[in-house]
Amino acid sequence: MQVKHGCGAEFAVGEDMLGQKVPCPQCGQLADIPPMDLTRPVENPEVVGAMERFQKDQSRPNLRAMMESVMKGTYLIGANIIARGAPEGKPGQLSWTSLRKGDEIQIVTVTNDADQKLLVLFTDWRQLNAWKAGFSGLVSPAKDALGFASSNGHDGVVINPGGPSLELDREQVGLLLSGQLPPP
Ligand SMILES: [Zn+2]
Repeated sequence: MQVKHGCGAEFAVGEDMLGQKVPCPQCGQLADIPPMDLTRPVENPEVVGAMERFQKDQSRPNLRAMMESVMKGTYLIGANIIARGAPEGKPGQLSWTSLRKGDEIQIVTVTNDADQKLLVLFTDWRQLNAWKAGFSGLVSPAKDALGFASSNGHDGVVINPGGPSLELDREQVGLLLSGQLPPP
């Protein structure tokens, strides 16, 4: 992916360097490489496919495969951006690079039938817009998204609340974060 450094240099780094620091070829200072390639659209065909397969056949291998792919995904955390900085960000195009000073971020939560407060995640922008137009999304790898839910008092997460969805309760989130998958 292409990375832009503060000094103005643009250079390419490999996927294996994501989230790390590398010396800038122009100024020599250490440059932070974002934890993910933000130039790439958020799409999770593997996660969506695994969720569909599990919904059709709720077998243990399918459950395990789904959980495994969930942890490999990159999601959009549903958020409401109140633009106080100028100019306003466009819904659906906002990422951490385009937040402006003064903007306020409200993380979206939903309450399920069991009165649990869930963090809302989406596999792609289409899913987000299908759920509620006008909301934005914060791009986040699975580990960070689940970690956020876990450390901010959520009872769990729901992936794609507007479509075929998947709810993970607090216990499941904790197990996934500790690297545990359902038994085969
Ligand atoms: Zn530089």
